Amino acid sequence: MTDGDRPVAVVTGGSRGIGRAAVLRLAADGFDVAFCYLSRPERAEAVAAEARRAGARVLARKTDVSVAGQAEELVSETEAELGPIGAVVANAGVVRDRPLAGMADDEWDTVLRTNLDGTYHICRAAARSLMRHDSGTIVTISSVAGIYGNVGQSNYAASKAGIIGFTKSVAKELGRFGVRVNCVAPGMITTDMTDELSEEKRKEQIRRIPLRRPGTPDEVAELVSFLISRRSAYITGQVLGIDGGFSL
Ligand code: NDP
Repeated sequence: MTDGDRPVAVVTGGSRGIGRAAVLRLAADGFDVAFCYLSRPERAEAVAAEARRAGARVLARKTDVSVAGQAEELVSETEAELGPIGAVVANAGVVRDRPLAGMADDEWDTVLRTNLDGTYHICRAAARSLMRHDSGTIVTISSVAGIYGNVGQSNYAASKAGIIGFTKSVAKELGRFGVRVNCVAPGMITTDMTDELSEEKRKEQIRRIPLRRPGTPDEVAELVSFLISRRSAYITGQVLGIDGGFSL
């Protein structure tokens, strides 16, 4: 493939963890990729360099997805530099765990604004581009916490449950334009986010997973790749768990 005939994907939060794995997987799948990060340019540059080695044109941009205007700028820069957008992975997310009785407003707001508003902002900004595409796709990232809830995560679970309702609504809305919208709900995946868990909590969670191990970012990226590709051409509006059986 030459420059310009590769499809273009946008990944939010691509500098680390699941987003990083998605960027690299999509680059290997033949996409040019734009991705954003919030605070770690050196990590983003390393991911961009790796994706370029896989043959992709890459745009790595500092963007706070909780701010609508910044998500819009990411989309317009992507279109200007890489071309029309065919796929969006709304991945950027944060945790600020705290029992409800002690939850601070800024802990609630940061999680809801980043996870839920951030998903809305990037999807709204890219919607027109996707609708013009003949087979646009969106993959949102929820969590098992958004389906089943989790102690100390009322803010996070609310944001992730919101993403599920958002995904299903947008799938109904955009289906007639050929745009498919699906949601991935990971269980415990080894990333910086789960490194924040205490060793005791980590062991307890692993005991509850039938496969007796956390998942890897690459395993989630494999599912994202499937949902973006024509291999899933008749799947839309679905929430796909990837949790080693945790939710059984
Ligand atoms: P990480 O903490 O490893 O990475 C988070 C990424 O999001 C980083 O690239 C970070 O950028 C970026 N980011 C954070 N805030 C913003 C923001 N406001 N605007 C733009 N980018 C931002 O997370 P994971 O890879 O573990 O998680 C990825 C997604 O998967 C999240 O939505 C998370 O909720 C979800 N998930 C994760 C699970 C897990 O076990 N790991 C389980 C279930 C769901 P920077 O590097 O600059 O900080």
